[in-house]
Amino acid sequence: MLPHLSGLSIEVVEQRDGMVVLSGRIRATTARCGRCRQPSSRIHGRYQRRLRDVAVAGMALVLQVQVRRFRCDNTGCPAKTFVEQVEGVTTPHARLTAGPKVTLTQIGLALAGRAGSRLAVVIGSAAGRDTLLRLVKALPDPPQAPITVLGVDDFAFRRGRHYGTVLIDMASHRPVDMFDGRDGDSLAAWLRQHPEIEVICRDRAGGYGEGARLGAPNAVQVADRFHLWQNLGQAVEKTVNAYRSRLASPAPPPADDTMPAQLRQLPELKIVTRLREHHAAVHELASQGWNKSAIARKLGLHHATVRKYLNAATAAELTVVSEQRAPGRRLRRLPAPALERRRTQRHPTVPRNQTPGLSRRRARCPALPAPLSPRPRPRPGPGSETTISAPGDLMDHDPSRPPRSPRRDQAARCPQPRP
Ligand SMILES: [Zn+2]
Repeated sequence: MLPHLSGLSIEVVEQRDGMVVLSGRIRATTARCGRCRQPSSRIHGRYQRRLRDVAVAGMALVLQVQVRRFRCDNTGCPAKTFVEQVEGVTTPHARLTAGPKVTLTQIGLALAGRAGSRLAVVIGSAAGRDTLLRLVKALPDPPQAPITVLGVDDFAFRRGRHYGTVLIDMASHRPVDMFDGRDGDSLAAWLRQHPEIEVICRDRAGGYGEGARLGAPNAVQVADRFHLWQNLGQAVEKTVNAYRSRLASPAPPPADDTMPAQLRQLPELKIVTRLREHHAAVHELASQGWNKSAIARKLGLHHATVRKYLNAATAAELTVVSEQRAPGRRLRRLPAPALERRRTQRHPTVPRNQTPGLSRRRARCPALPAPLSPRPRPRPGPGSETTISAPGDLMDHDPSRPPRSPRRDQAARCPQPRP
């Protein structure tokens, strides 16, 4: 029934804790050393091993095998003792036989950690997500065909701080190598070990260009499609911003839409105010005959910043970029009616005082605690200011206003006339 267990002598079969447990020992009387392959029959000791095998009828199958540790008779072998193994059943230190190892590896490849672990429980081969990932990582690298077109680009370990380089086989669109940093020397060293590269498709950083030239002088360097589109988009944005003042004003919004009216009432960003003030100051000084260096010293600006202000005819050409890049600005600018309309359209069943995400999690997992009712915030009573404040602080801090008596204020707020 279980041909892969023919090397074992099964003595007890029992059902225990929802598992089928087979207890036995290994049939062979001798074993070969794992290092020198010399057979030995001198037994050093015995102990029990537990291995999980393929599930039977939906139940986990556990092998409880007594194994022997032999002495190696080869005096030239570095191993003094070794443990016997059964082909197809045991491997050193393993807690799985070959069958479930293959199954769990395929599950890990298809579903990765968490989802694979849930499926493994259902089919009777329970395994944690770390076990599945460890099995996948232990697989040998797939054979790599010669690369003729290589893609080179950078990626962020930590955005803005620390970058690395990823190399892609453009034929299979799979990464072939990664290394720390994005300097040309590392790329040149990698390319020298791969003379088969004919085309290098890279981003437009100068370091990569120099590295490709040194490491593969005969390869053709081309710019990749993403960076061509990115550069085109940047050029269009710069051009449109330069001529923004000549664009026609947008049509007025319909009367029933309250959003534009609310948008106009929002306070201006600090950076926009500063840009507008600097732009006006730079142009004022320039009109008085000041040169760029003098303006830069007078206003404490970099000369390149002064040149940027002078090249912009209006402040709007400078402020539009800052307004577009303000994080979360568009969302925060939505007025309350528009936010409420969006919330009721997307989450019609969620009560107003609940978060949609929390409600979905609670629907999936009923064990989550019920939402707490909002705790009433204590409001200070009429006498609290007198109680918790130092006497000197009870007077108004605004020197332009006449001093008030705190007791007279309390009397004015008290609903009952004082006796
Ligand atoms: Zn040996």
